[in-house]
Amino acid sequence: SPAKKRTQRDTDSERVPPTLSSPDKVLFPSDALTKRDVADYYAAAMPWLLPEIAGRPLSVIRCPGGIDGPCFFQKHHTAGMSLVETVRLKDEAGASDYLIANDAAAVMELVQFNALEFHPWGAHADAPDTADRIVFDLDPGDGVSWAEIVAAARQVRGLLQQLKLESFVRTTGGKGLHVVVPLDPGSDWDVVKPFAHAFAQGMTELDPLKYVATATKKFRKQKIFVDYLRNGRGATAVASFSLRARAGAPVSMPLRWEDLGKLKSGDAWTLRNAPARLKRLKAHPWGDFMALRQSLDGIVD
Ligand code: ATP
Ligand code: MN
Ligand code: MN
Repeated sequence: SPAKKRTQRDTDSERVPPTLSSPDKVLFPSDALTKRDVADYYAAAMPWLLPEIAGRPLSVIRCPGGIDGPCFFQKHHTAGMSLVETVRLKDEAGASDYLIANDAAAVMELVQFNALEFHPWGAHADAPDTADRIVFDLDPGDGVSWAEIVAAARQVRGLLQQLKLESFVRTTGGKGLHVVVPLDPGSDWDVVKPFAHAFAQGMTELDPLKYVATATKKFRKQKIFVDYLRNGRGATAVASFSLRARAGAPVSMPLRWEDLGKLKSGDAWTLRNAPARLKRLKAHPWGDFMALRQSLDGIVD
């Protein structure tokens, strides 16, 4: 299988995180946060972040000069990375080596490379053609209030419940929310993607004044784009517990549905206030969601 072609680990002693260079480099200028602050955040969040990304092809957003400089989305392995592993997957280019971070040392190596954001596939590296989650990415257009976004997430949950599908909510650290549906890992993208599309389409038919399901920006004013496009082979969504390369150093934070009403905005959880929450957390806010085996069988034909 492709996952077996990962870079060879020689000895365990190699799995020591690299020493952080330029720890005082400012990465979030308006927040006076440095590369050291980012590394400290990821060290604190590690037990929560790792299960979200380990074993999955991973893209990162790197900002070598901080978030006000050029940032770029990277999905392939680059020279100098030795702790980050790779998986060779077929793609438009034939095949390429995709990044995987399987342990703390690999994550910290990416931080050393000024990675701020972590974006896994909705699939495992050893089964890249099948999904194990659906992500409904709710993207508010101009003029949509936070209360309306919260209501939309709850409506997505309710509609999924009618299909006997359990779902979970997280902040993105940005403007919207993600509603995540764990699936039986064998779910073919060819089934998952049309389902996600049809679901989004269904929401626009239910409430055409509130929702759109087309990516075109000009249709989004005052409306919420139900972005189903996160659901395809090679598509990514930000990992729960990832920082975002945006002012305020926000964090994508999974929540219990009961706690959604208390939240003031999608960027309320940040590098500064998230670690205290993570320290208090006894269990994942989504419970044992990774063990949920939900299938679209009987829902789609
Ligand atoms: P927000 O709540 O502000 O929308 P978001 O993370 O949902 O935050 P989106 O722009 O909706 O941001 O993107 C959703 C996901 O799509 C991202 O988390 C990312 O994984 C992926 N994505 C976005 N832009 C790109 C890109 N240029 N290349 C690859 N993947 C992208
Ligand atoms: Mn979004
Ligand atoms: Mn989107």
